[in-house]
Amino acid sequence: MSHSMDHHYMQGTYDFALVAFSYIVAVVASFTVLDLVDRISSSRGWHRWGWLAFGSAAMGLGVWSMHFVGMLAFSLPVPVAYDMVTVVLSVVAVVLGSFIALFIVGKKKIGWKQLLSGGFLLASGISAMHYVGMDAMQIHITYKPLYFAISILIAVVASIVALWLSLYFSSGKDRWRRWKKLGSGLVMGAAVVGMHYTGMYAAEFHTIGMDESSGAMLDQKLLAYVIAGVTLVTLGLSLVGIYISNRFTSKESELEVSEKWYKSLFENNQDGIIAVDLDYRIIGFNEAACELVGVKGDALHNQKVDFIFPMIVEEEREYTQQKFLASLSGVLQRYETALYHQDGRRVELSVINAPVELNGEVVGNYIIARDITEDKRSKEKIQHQAHHDELTGLPNRRRFNQILDEQIRSSTSPFAIMVLDIDRFKMINDSLGHTYGDIFLQEVSSRIQKVVEGSKVTLSRMGGDEFTLLCHDSFDQHSTSVLAESIIRQISLPYRLKDNDFYVTASIGIAVYPIDGEDAVELLQNADTAMYEVKKNGKNGCRFYSRELNEQLQEKIGLEADLRRAIEQEELFLYYQPQIRSIDSRMIGVEALVRWNHPDKGVISPGVFIPIAEETGLIYSLGSWVLREACHQMKAWHDAGGPLIPVSVNLSSQQFHQENLAEYIIAILEETGLDAQYLELEITESMMMDPVVSKDILDKLTDLGVRISLDDFGTGYSSLSYLKQLPIHKLKIDRSFISDIVKNTNDKAIVATIISMAQHLNMDVVAEGIETQEQLDILTHNDCQKIQGYYYSKPLPAADVENAFFVPQRNLGRLG
Ligand code: C2E
Ligand code: CA
Ligand code: CA
Repeated sequence: MSHSMDHHYMQGTYDFALVAFSYIVAVVASFTVLDLVDRISSSRGWHRWGWLAFGSAAMGLGVWSMHFVGMLAFSLPVPVAYDMVTVVLSVVAVVLGSFIALFIVGKKKIGWKQLLSGGFLLASGISAMHYVGMDAMQIHITYKPLYFAISILIAVVASIVALWLSLYFSSGKDRWRRWKKLGSGLVMGAAVVGMHYTGMYAAEFHTIGMDESSGAMLDQKLLAYVIAGVTLVTLGLSLVGIYISNRFTSKESELEVSEKWYKSLFENNQDGIIAVDLDYRIIGFNEAACELVGVKGDALHNQKVDFIFPMIVEEEREYTQQKFLASLSGVLQRYETALYHQDGRRVELSVINAPVELNGEVVGNYIIARDITEDKRSKEKIQHQAHHDELTGLPNRRRFNQILDEQIRSSTSPFAIMVLDIDRFKMINDSLGHTYGDIFLQEVSSRIQKVVEGSKVTLSRMGGDEFTLLCHDSFDQHSTSVLAESIIRQISLPYRLKDNDFYVTASIGIAVYPIDGEDAVELLQNADTAMYEVKKNGKNGCRFYSRELNEQLQEKIGLEADLRRAIEQEELFLYYQPQIRSIDSRMIGVEALVRWNHPDKGVISPGVFIPIAEETGLIYSLGSWVLREACHQMKAWHDAGGPLIPVSVNLSSQQFHQENLAEYIIAILEETGLDAQYLELEITESMMMDPVVSKDILDKLTDLGVRISLDDFGTGYSSLSYLKQLPIHKLKIDRSFISDIVKNTNDKAIVATIISMAQHLNMDVVAEGIETQEQLDILTHNDCQKIQGYYYSKPLPAADVENAFFVPQRNLGRLG
């Protein structure tokens, strides 16, 4: 930049149409560049170099033509010639700068460093182009340093911003992208133009030193429009080119991408996949398929599908082949099969045969197979657990019902089912604990299994200590009883638990299809009824269900409901049976015996309804009614001058163990006004299982002053020493000894022993059930004077007792 001594500067003028045109060129060029960076960064190999060359040429050319048009828009008062070599040089500079800049930023990922150096290179290219281009003017130019610097700065900032914008847009994919690109094209165009005109402003054109002789003289305006026009067309074409190539390559890569996706799906699939064509040739397979059958990949290669069929387990082979062929007719097949793996294990498969269609025609199919061995195994395990008892491994209730249902559905002849219940299992469970209870049940289960081994019987455990058996063979009364009895025998053998031998027994009820029930529920219920009947009659045995049993049961159920109302409806009443002293036939006591006058069934005996009352808990209210009524009657007799004798009242076991029994008896005595000494309570041996507890209760009762009588004596097993410790006033010899006493010398001996023992222990003795003179004679001969029995009197209504036994006091009326 030289300054001449005489300051002869020329003032230039601008053609504004061309200025605007130059701006348009700059914008289009910028826009093209933004698009190109995108292309370059997404291309590979020689494509990339091509785009790079093309891009830098387009960009360089664009920037250059903008510059040149800008130059031409400026006219000086004198014509200016251009040095063509320098013009070409300026083009080279800008194209080179663009190339390097695009090379740097046209990568997938770039950092700030690349961006800045790329921007600087681009800016130097543009600046070099501008000032070299100016130098082509054959006129002396000097530059104002400030504006010169500003123009360079603008070039740098504009380049960096432009590159940054292009990178910014190459990532992200929104639908405003094109518009944003255009916007940044406008900004960048403005920057390039700004740089140019700032540079122009920096220039001072000198009049002296003009060299008009050399260099080309150009028709400025025409030239400018030609250059700008050609550039625009070139750039426009390149934009179209980019657009088309974009569309084309993106479609191409979409296909490529989706193919890759499918390939990955195929190769990495956990299911084994084999592609088979119409000639049954294996044309593709994945790793999982090889693993499934246990062969190396090359073993499947070029094989026919027949290679696989022999591996299918024999029973499924034909079916599998059929399914495979069916899919080739175009219908997808889904089924389960199994094959033998090369290492010998059986692999369960879930298979899909999917036909492959091309233009509506089946060209082959995919065999997609999944290993479901584990699934199947765990399903079977769950199935097994759902249908079997954990403790014994036997079928459970659910399974038994299923099998029974099946048997009913398919049976052509009668068959039997048995319900077995262990007697006294609760005792083992309670005294040894659940662990031993479980061991015991397992032992029971294996004993039954041993007995039924070899015969067609389904044994199952219904829960607790209840087992059921289904005999699949046609019913036969004899063999069924034999089977039941041998089971009972096996169960009754001792069990060694905790170093002790334990003895249990079992009760079995048997029901026969179809006579004892036409469905599973009815059959089981009736077998149950039969089993309970065994329990009721002393357990340890078996019995067949019968209609009568059921009728009894039904009746019992009916009675239970009626009994609940009987007390309120005053259907209960008492009979009194006198106890007579044989020497003078005087009444020395009475036993109160309850009766029930049922509205439909007439008078019912206590042997029928007392057990029901005991089972249902009604015994408490029934028992207290009896007590109150008996005390009341005896008090009335005493008050009316009757004999001062006690009344005996039977206590059931539940009453005996009732809490505050003593208090409750006091209350009744007070209420009725009867003196305690005139009340006698009859209890049985069986109520006194636990001597400590019973002594306690009995002590409390005798403290009240009431008397205790031991009923049905001789039927239990109480030892004599044990009786000695208890406050018992009276023994009642059971009727069963009396009835045979005339013929049975054994019974006679027992009775004699009881009598002498009682005398020894200072107890009263009463003989029950004396019906004949002979019986009476034997007893009196054995020193038993007190007699209760039909011989003297049946149980009687209170009035009849008065009439028949209150003989001396004839004036007594009906009382009570
Ligand atoms: P138990 O206490 O042994 O009563 C004697 C039973 O023998 C009475 O039967 C009586 O009628 C009967 N009997 C008496 N002498 C003879 C005889 O010479 N020959 C025959 N064959 N039988 C005779 P009943 O009244 O049917 O009572 C049966 C059982 O019912 C009683 O046996 C007793 O255990 C129970 N019972 C009766 N009333 C009550 C009561 O109020 N409460 C309780 N808990 N049980 C009662
Ligand atoms: Ca009695
Ligand atoms: Ca008795």
